[in-house]
Amino acid sequence: MAREYDVIIVGAGMVGALTAVLTAQKGLTVALIDKHSGRYALSTPPAYDARVSAISKLSQQSLEEAGAWQRIAQGRLAPYHKMAVWDGLGDGYVDFDGNYQQAGDLGQLVENAVLCDALMKSVHDTRGIDLYFDDSVAAQRHTDVGVEIDLASDRQLQGAVLIAADGANSQLRQQNGFDTVEWDYGHHAIVTTVEIDQAHENTAWQAFGEEGILAFLPLPSVEGKHYVSIVWSVAPTDAEQLVALDDAAFCKRLTYAINRRFTALSVTVPRMAIPLRQRHAKQYVQEGLVLIGDAAHTIHPLAGQGANLGFADVSALVPILIKAHQRGEALGSLKILRRYQRARMLDNIAMSASMEAFKRMFTTQQPVVVQLRNMGMKLCQSSPMIKRQLVAHAAGVR
Ligand SMILES: Cc1cc2nc3c(=O)[nH]c(=O)nc-3n(C[C@H](O)[C@H](O)[C@H](O)COP(=O)(O)OP(=O)(O)OC[C@H]3O[C@@H](n4cnc5c(N)ncnc54)[C@H](O)[C@@H]3O)c2cc1C
Repeated sequence: MAREYDVIIVGAGMVGALTAVLTAQKGLTVALIDKHSGRYALSTPPAYDARVSAISKLSQQSLEEAGAWQRIAQGRLAPYHKMAVWDGLGDGYVDFDGNYQQAGDLGQLVENAVLCDALMKSVHDTRGIDLYFDDSVAAQRHTDVGVEIDLASDRQLQGAVLIAADGANSQLRQQNGFDTVEWDYGHHAIVTTVEIDQAHENTAWQAFGEEGILAFLPLPSVEGKHYVSIVWSVAPTDAEQLVALDDAAFCKRLTYAINRRFTALSVTVPRMAIPLRQRHAKQYVQEGLVLIGDAAHTIHPLAGQGANLGFADVSALVPILIKAHQRGEALGSLKILRRYQRARMLDNIAMSASMEAFKRMFTTQQPVVVQLRNMGMKLCQSSPMIKRQLVAHAAGVR
């Protein structure tokens, strides 16, 4: 006999776990499935995990609502008050300050593992969520009341709606024939943690230049030493070479690529190179099935917005499901699920398009484009109005 749920969520990453807590808090019954164990091994600072995310204020509010944000130790959070961006091939420079929007800080940097661990604790503390970890979907069928699935562990579940939060390579998206628009960015992102020679001033520093797109993102200082998380987007062959360098040579290249604004002293965790692909599902919904987070869309990390878009998906979807549940409507009906798609698709497409435009504009070395983008940066630096709008967007406050 299949166990019955209102909602079945596949994928207990940041986006799926948040969805599980926020729906269960409102009385819906939830099955949360992941092929992962749900346990996160947290590193010890200053060996901060190589994967970090800049979390906007809006996303922070949702994470607080789920009781997850409060569980993150202060020593694992780094607020950033400012973003400073410059063009290594010219003299264009622009900075954005949270004060432009009375936002204080623009957001906080947190390691992905720390955030997922906090979310998982909220999942465990929330009534109404059954966990099916170290498991996956073996088969899926539509029924009169929603969806029925067989797990690899031979168990059967039935749900009014199936939520695919199974990440960029979503099996559910592929198996259910969702079309996507996608292409390689021609970039791999090298991520790691580095000690630098001076305080990072709680600023996210980003250099665009012939060495690729390089971000130095603030992490908490330890015993007077300063650390940043590196996201360095370069061509795949360059990434291979940079990952193969010894630590001293890598630090030297980093110092050069950040235009000597900082000196990179040492690397505290192994480097990783992640291929970057833009992907966007043409539809987010089918009868009984909905895509959220990276399962629906992935973008270039240059503006640190991928997870924030996923959290915004959750903020749109959850109230729609709750309202439908309270009204006794079928949660998986296309009529209901299309409300979510209407609420989110335009925003997600706009962000994808901006990332593509930024990436193209800042990776070309054509003299005319270089000149134009430097002029654009200077114009932006001298215009408080443009800055206010961009800050509002980055901080997630509109
Ligand atoms: C270099 C880099 C830097 C980034 N920086 C930022 C940033 O600063 N700010 C920001 O907002 N975003 C950032 N992002 C994007 C962000 O990391 C992602 O958008 C976010 O992790 C997506 O979360 P998710 O829960 O949708 O997917 P995932 O984190 O991929 O979670 C998917 C979950 O599904 C599970 N799963 C997968 N397949 C199956 C299956 N078949 N069966 C069962 N379970 C399955 C996985 O185990 C996992 O737990 C960055 C991305 C990159 C690559």
